[in-house]
Amino acid sequence: GCNMCVKKCPLQAIKIINLPKDMSKDLVHRYGPNTFKLHRLPTPRAGQVLGLVGTNGIGKSTALKILAGKEMPNLGRFDNPPDWKELLQYFRGSELQGYFTKMLEQEFKSSIKVQYVDAIPKHVKGVVGEIIKKKDTKGNSERLIQELELSHLLERDISQLSGGELQRLAILIVCIQNVQISMFDEPSSYLDVKQRLKAAQVIRSLIDEKNYIICVEHDLSVLDYLSDFVCCLYGSQTAYGIVTMPFSVREGINIFLAGFIPTENMRFRDYGLSFKVADNLEPIDLKKMSHYTYPAMEKQQGAFKLSICPGEFNQSQIVVLLGENGTGKTTFIKMLAGKDPAVKDKIPELNVSYKPQTVNPSFESSVRDLLNMRIPGVYTQPAFVSDVTKPMLLDDIIDNQVLELSGGELQRVCIILALGKPADVYLIDEPSAYLDSEQRIIAAKVIKRYILNSKKSAFVVEHDFIMATYLADSVIVYEGTPGKECKANSPQSLVSGMNRFLEIMGVTFRRDPSNFRPRINKIDSILDREQKIAGNYFSLE
Ligand code: ADP
Ligand code: ADP
Ligand code: MG
Ligand code: MG
Repeated sequence: GCNMCVKKCPLQAIKIINLPKDMSKDLVHRYGPNTFKLHRLPTPRAGQVLGLVGTNGIGKSTALKILAGKEMPNLGRFDNPPDWKELLQYFRGSELQGYFTKMLEQEFKSSIKVQYVDAIPKHVKGVVGEIIKKKDTKGNSERLIQELELSHLLERDISQLSGGELQRLAILIVCIQNVQISMFDEPSSYLDVKQRLKAAQVIRSLIDEKNYIICVEHDLSVLDYLSDFVCCLYGSQTAYGIVTMPFSVREGINIFLAGFIPTENMRFRDYGLSFKVADNLEPIDLKKMSHYTYPAMEKQQGAFKLSICPGEFNQSQIVVLLGENGTGKTTFIKMLAGKDPAVKDKIPELNVSYKPQTVNPSFESSVRDLLNMRIPGVYTQPAFVSDVTKPMLLDDIIDNQVLELSGGELQRVCIILALGKPADVYLIDEPSAYLDSEQRIIAAKVIKRYILNSKKSAFVVEHDFIMATYLADSVIVYEGTPGKECKANSPQSLVSGMNRFLEIMGVTFRRDPSNFRPRINKIDSILDREQKIAGNYFSLE
């Protein structure tokens, strides 16, 4: 059995179980004939943060554009689109009527943090500090530059920023504009755990009784922390999406995980997901497993110094590396992968399979050709198919050109390639990057099950807290000053490691009583203060 499921699950493709019969009267937008259909819209509320959760290609960005007034809904009539008068009539009696009326009458201004920050330097040119100065109509840029750690980048040209730097700049640009509608489309991509929390706090600091804030987010802990209420989107990717009514954050995320909407008696996924960590894994007899050790090591790399405490790991177990950006996680993984001649003779001689953090496509043929070249014979083995390729939905993309894959598709291929290579130790650097929240859960299950069943070991770098918690049998916590001098602690148990890591971060977590998913306590809430006093940063209650 798989320990993430409420009921026995075949780890199959997500499919709709019982769709509402006639959705045509709820069709809000369609881009053109035979294209994606969006049914219903999320309902924003003044003074609150609305979170949107759903798979890729289900209409989240489309909904944002419509609610920002940047795309006019056409009710499916792209050849004969309605005007605003008719639209207001259409939304009559719903909260949306009030929203759109206000948006039109008060001439709301909106600003969207776009999903793909990599594309920003194509449209926005210049030096970071100048760009910020031009956009700041609120006069709060100085404080936010500090909070989002952009001070050292003000002189730099925007074209030179890394993904995480661009992301923080893009978030800042929305936060410093005097607008009534602020939207953040996937703000946590490229950010480490600490930066994710900071970004969420900065976004929440915008709340004011007259303004509307909407966020799309795939890191469910971050979405949970960011939002006051949540709408789920479900349906069939690239075909149609349906927006649910608003739920409380806890309820909305639990509905998404359960794949079931009680108020509509609607099941949209044929299995539910649970995060109970400790007691439902099949017990493994560690005495029967091989056991590896590595000694204390040091590494000087330019101006960066990393000290690694000695450690051990087992077969059938996953070690998760937890640390901010620039603390040396990738450096350590590369050392274990034998890519560092200076320490090669100190680490156990093991076959390793390595999934690098940045997945760079340069292969000029199909996914199938790539698999035939890299893992011939493996990707067609029945056990590998049912454990790995089927849940990762390889069939959907196997005949696509590698160069044309989306970020998430490429990530799925890279995970398959890494697991398909025979090895003793699997080193997987940031598997959740570019994946949506549903694919993350599936990828986490696939990796966990594969390592357990094949009796291999794995080291995984992961910033998505729910994924990290689910994957980890033990954790290595990184401490120190990023980019300067850091220490990688010895692997320790999930609970003690998380406690240590969260203490460094200054945040506390509790667990949801129904599916055990970790939830971040709001800073300075009663629970947050109580848990800090008790030193119980990662509560299992
Ligand atoms: P999400 O943000 O949930 O990933 P999107 O709203 O971006 O989903 O897209 C939903 C669907 O609409 C996708 O199938 C996408 O290809 C399609 N789509 C998005 N924008 C356009 C457009 N301008 N013209 C045609 N189709 C589009
Ligand atoms: P993480 O994976 O935790 O984000 P890395 O291991 O990639 O961190 O990098 C740790 C530090 O080492 C960073 O400050 C980075 O800039 C620096 N660094 C990485 N590679 C090199 C290199 N080849 N030469 C000099 N410094 C490097
Ligand atoms: Mg989107
Ligand atoms: Mg890294």
